[in-house]
Amino acid sequence: MSIPLTQYWRLLRRYLRPQGPKVLLLGILLLTGIGLQLYYPTVLQRFIDQAGAGTPGLRLLALAALFLGLAIANQLLALWATYLGQEIGWRATNELRAELTEHLLGLDLSYHKDRTAGEMIERIDGDVTPLANFFSAFVVQVAANALLLAGVLAVLYTVDWRAGLALSGFAALHLTVLLRTRHSAMPGWQASRQASSQFFGYLGERLAGLEEIRANGAEHAVRLGFVQALRTRLQAELKAGRGMAIMLVVSFGLLAVGTSTAFGVGLALVRAGAISVGTAYMIFFYTEQLRRPTEQIVQQMQDLARAGASISRIGDLLAMRSTLAVHGEGAPLPDGPLALAVDRLTFGYIPGVPVLENLSFALKPGEVLGVRGRTGIGKSTLARLVARLYDPVGGSIRLGGVDVRSVRLADLRRRVGVVTQEVQIFRGTLRDNLTLFDATVADSRIWAALDELGLREWAASLPNGLDTELASGGGLSAGEAQLLAFARVFLKDPGLVILDEASSRLDPVTEQRLEQAIDRLLLGRTAILIAHRLSTLRRAGQVLSLQSGPEEVVAG
Ligand code: ATP
Ligand code: MG
Repeated sequence: MSIPLTQYWRLLRRYLRPQGPKVLLLGILLLTGIGLQLYYPTVLQRFIDQAGAGTPGLRLLALAALFLGLAIANQLLALWATYLGQEIGWRATNELRAELTEHLLGLDLSYHKDRTAGEMIERIDGDVTPLANFFSAFVVQVAANALLLAGVLAVLYTVDWRAGLALSGFAALHLTVLLRTRHSAMPGWQASRQASSQFFGYLGERLAGLEEIRANGAEHAVRLGFVQALRTRLQAELKAGRGMAIMLVVSFGLLAVGTSTAFGVGLALVRAGAISVGTAYMIFFYTEQLRRPTEQIVQQMQDLARAGASISRIGDLLAMRSTLAVHGEGAPLPDGPLALAVDRLTFGYIPGVPVLENLSFALKPGEVLGVRGRTGIGKSTLARLVARLYDPVGGSIRLGGVDVRSVRLADLRRRVGVVTQEVQIFRGTLRDNLTLFDATVADSRIWAALDELGLREWAASLPNGLDTELASGGGLSAGEAQLLAFARVFLKDPGLVILDEASSRLDPVTEQRLEQAIDRLLLGRTAILIAHRLSTLRRAGQVLSLQSGPEEVVAG
């Protein structure tokens, strides 16, 4: 992973600075822990030697109590440090998640259409999770463990230089071997992450399409796919597990070598009368302690590699810019109904495959344009272009005399209201769905809007009025959903409305409600009515018939 170290450093600084005091406290806790770990083996040594020399029981008991106390204190410190580390890690990564979410939402539709929801979740959450440890522990842990390692070796040298030398050799060997094998688990983990994201992507998509799957009797195929996805996942996990196991086996093997070394050296030194039995035991104990920091350093290195992969993916994502840049300072749109001028508009989703070609028309403020044409001709596409979800390939769209490319997107979206063909209902109350979760909109305004559109009766007939919970993607009929979308747009009070009518058949009552609502919605607004029903089109001053040849506008 070739990411410059400065990039790691920048990330750390950026997300840890707001948590400065906590990071400092964590550092202090970890250092104190190291001090304790270096100190308490000497208590053991004294205990053994004094027990051998026949010291009175009470004194031995005091030593034992001291040892116990230190061990407990060490555990408590570790607990506190873990808690703090988690908190720091979560805060930092949550900040990053929020930033990524906002960035992703700002990207244009052409980006989103190419990707599944599961992939988005992976990018916002999956890529960020491995960074939690990097933020909370990496620097402190690596520094602390290096210090602990050095400390243990230094103490060993002061006990006996031969023991120090032997165990330095052992530590160097252990570290080298672990650093070399650390990559053995990496490819496995990557594959397992990939498999799990695919599995959840599959699950999510199938669950969302439950109605379709049941209605068409595709359960069996779906179940097969499920088993297949799970199998892939299992294999990947097994492979990753094997990689980890290799590391563990290597580590334990080396540890056995280390322990034998410590025993051998200790035994030789005791025989030669150079050290006491207690000291020999202490050497052995320190050897055990060498293992932890070595392993932790290696683990941190592994995490660093994983964090590196994440950081590069996150960097790529953040570098992605929306193609819908605003030209200039952001020109203001005039109040009231907006004039619309479309000039030689050309657009295609795929380069070289134009959907709209050289389309021109003009609407004065308050005029209504009807649009019709066979399915797939580009009616909804026109709506998307006017709302600037995409930019034209050629030609221009001017709203109130201003090119849409020079209007700030927030302004544009506020002044252009679109009722899309497939109205999206979100899980939440009717109120939330009307205001799109804008809590500042007063109920009185909502009721006023419903009244104006003749929908009060309908809304009041729902079990809990505005508080009726709607399920995402369901719960309302197509006609009702459209009524709701009308009210949504009406609350926004735009200067241009675009109605993209679904070709669904409506019952006469709903149809009449819709007609009324459309009449009211169009009052004092410029409008584009994409319509299948003649009754809708009768409002249009001019009708645009989209065809796969030259476009024509006929007077209505
Ligand atoms: P309908 O009456 O069925 O709603 P429409 O006139 O609204 O049809 P559009 O949705 O504008 O048709 O689609 C026009 C063409 O563009 C179609 O051929 C469609 O397949 C294609 N198209 C639409 N969206 C995309 C997209 N995101 N990427 C690629 N092609 C697309
Ligand atoms: Mg359409």
